[in-house]
Amino acid sequence: MTSIKIFCPATIANLSCGFDVLGTCLENVGDEMIIRKSEQKGIRITKIVGANLPLETEKNVAGVAALALLSAIETEFGFEIEIYKNIKAGSGIGSSSASAAGAVFGINELLGKPFSRKELVEFAMQGEILASGSAHADNVAPCLLGGFTLIRNTNPLDIVRIESPSELFATIIHPKIELKTSDMRAVLTPMVSLKSAIIQWGNLGGLISGLHTSDYDLIGRSLQDEIVEPLRGKFIPNFNEIKTIAIENGALGSGISGSGPSIFALCRGIETAEKVGNAMKIVFKKTNIEFDIHVCKINSEGVKTI
Ligand code: ADP
Repeated sequence: MTSIKIFCPATIANLSCGFDVLGTCLENVGDEMIIRKSEQKGIRITKIVGANLPLETEKNVAGVAALALLSAIETEFGFEIEIYKNIKAGSGIGSSSASAAGAVFGINELLGKPFSRKELVEFAMQGEILASGSAHADNVAPCLLGGFTLIRNTNPLDIVRIESPSELFATIIHPKIELKTSDMRAVLTPMVSLKSAIIQWGNLGGLISGLHTSDYDLIGRSLQDEIVEPLRGKFIPNFNEIKTIAIENGALGSGISGSGPSIFALCRGIETAEKVGNAMKIVFKKTNIEFDIHVCKINSEGVKTI
């Protein structure tokens, strides 16, 4: 095999109570990439369609992640990467991680799979340092592994994959405004109260348990964020209104996707997910901000060859 075409799915990180530790993978929204072996060693990004992003290897998360993988294995050849972006950078649904995960997945396939998907997470995380300044895995892990992923620890990396309950869908509204991850990190406070921490870890435990047992009510009760959402929600136009309307229309819960501006709702069944999407649309049309709505099943496969 000398070339490969792949689908790199969008992801939701944090999921309310799981700031920096939880993420999930989406079906039918994502980028595509074509990766080819080349005689010239190293990594070259030869084409980017759909976004204005740097072609320089060291300035693109795909290039940085790919170089991290190549530093761990001897190869006789190099790789050329084409990126077809559908996920807007800075949307909060894992644009940078789709490229980082896609690059290492594709190269690993062309090398005959020397690394497991879990091992690829470490390389993809190097790309995330470029995008946001920190080596977080809450988008790259679900992108590579599918389903839900819990980052129990980052050093050493310990990832727990959790299969999604079969009827779980996500509805996402992406307001087309830019919120920089670094700015949204800056609004957080370094200390949290014991009272908030207790509520948060109760909810995180509840969410993990609800996912394992397909207890949709428990999932819904647990989708609460005591710590981050109160500080970030105010930067997203109509955030509280969208969240309220989603729950009124049957969503299990709703919150900020990643560092925003996208807002997600988890729903049981596609009918509810679509109803929630329509209700979000009506609320958001009142603003003059452009937006997209996505209704997606949870993707249990992750990045894949197409
Ligand atoms: P998101 O949460 O949507 O991934 P981030 O803020 O984490 O958004 O990442 C976007 C940042 O990463 C932007 O500054 C963008 O220029 C940079 N970047 C570099 N390479 C890529 C790439 N291949 N895809 C997306 N973003 C990239």
